[in-house]
Amino acid sequence: LSSGKENVSAAEVEFENNIRPKEIEDFAGQPQLIENLSIFIKAAKLRGEALDHILFHGPPGLGKTTLSRIVANELGVNIKETSGPVIEKPGDLAGLLTNLEVNDVLFIDEIHRLSNVVEEYLYAAMEDFRLDIMIDSGPNARSIQINLNPFTLVGATTRSGLLTAPLLSRFGIKCRLEYYNADVLKKIVERSAGILNTDITSEASYEIARRSRGTPRIANGLLRRVRDFAQVLSDGKIEIAIAQHALKALNVDQHGLDEMDNRILLAIIEKFKGGPVGLTTIATAVGEEPGTLEEVYEPFLIQEGFMQRTPRGREVTVKAYEHLGKRVQGQTGG
Ligand code: ADP
Repeated sequence: LSSGKENVSAAEVEFENNIRPKEIEDFAGQPQLIENLSIFIKAAKLRGEALDHILFHGPPGLGKTTLSRIVANELGVNIKETSGPVIEKPGDLAGLLTNLEVNDVLFIDEIHRLSNVVEEYLYAAMEDFRLDIMIDSGPNARSIQINLNPFTLVGATTRSGLLTAPLLSRFGIKCRLEYYNADVLKKIVERSAGILNTDITSEASYEIARRSRGTPRIANGLLRRVRDFAQVLSDGKIEIAIAQHALKALNVDQHGLDEMDNRILLAIIEKFKGGPVGLTTIATAVGEEPGTLEEVYEPFLIQEGFMQRTPRGREVTVKAYEHLGKRVQGQTGG
């Protein structure tokens, strides 16, 4: 669940790939990140060198995979895609790396889930484009060196807090993806509707956008479901009334919070009088890892003003009480 990809069906993967922007111009939002990346890409191309290794980190569904493919596309090189848990042995890594052509991109999703052994081999590969493989054991043990083509490693993670210092230090470019505001998400919804040949009003696309937890993957997913309602209950065009009806039927929260967001707020209010309360204590109360709470859930709740960090712990705000229809208690500010 924490990677956000484990419960995605094959149909959803296909849908995602269909509407995934392929050109940098079609990637909405994250302006500073895009501007910097464009410069690094141009510079690498001018020098004919492999682009420095890149780490994309941030909550699920914000565009890490999309950007990795765009980077390869802009560089005009091939991309090989894999993920941390799939590379089980150093031999698997060697297989991937020795198949790369000059300046290709190797994309490792969920890079925080690499095994320690594989990670150690990756260090020399990233730094010197070299693999030192140990063969044999005991007195016959010796290492052989394999020289690799220069390549760009693009790592993606929702949990950068789990990456080791030596791995982190080998990424020359580290980019944090931020939640999208409703205006940018609206553009994404409109673009996706266009690809799906669906008519949607400006009001309706904004309604979907503002209830999508700042996340393009969620916005596109809601668009797809709302489109079903429009097709069956009306003439196929998505107007505000049909969008609101569909979102209500789908139980989508007014503010775009998901089930875990609401559980967190409810736990702080009901079990800890609104806070302040420590991260680990909240995590135990809702049955989630403290790190996931901190890196995946909390940033959105804080950004949207439902929760704040104080020196004594986390506190919900008045907005959280109102959202959940609870009476304000304790000394909560906000
Ligand atoms: P992540 O790898 O961060 O989990 P993805 O790159 O798989 O997220 O993006 C999820 C979906 O959201 C994709 O279908 C993609 O089309 C869409 N998407 C993500 N970011 C953007 C963006 N900035 N502009 C347009 N579509 C986006």
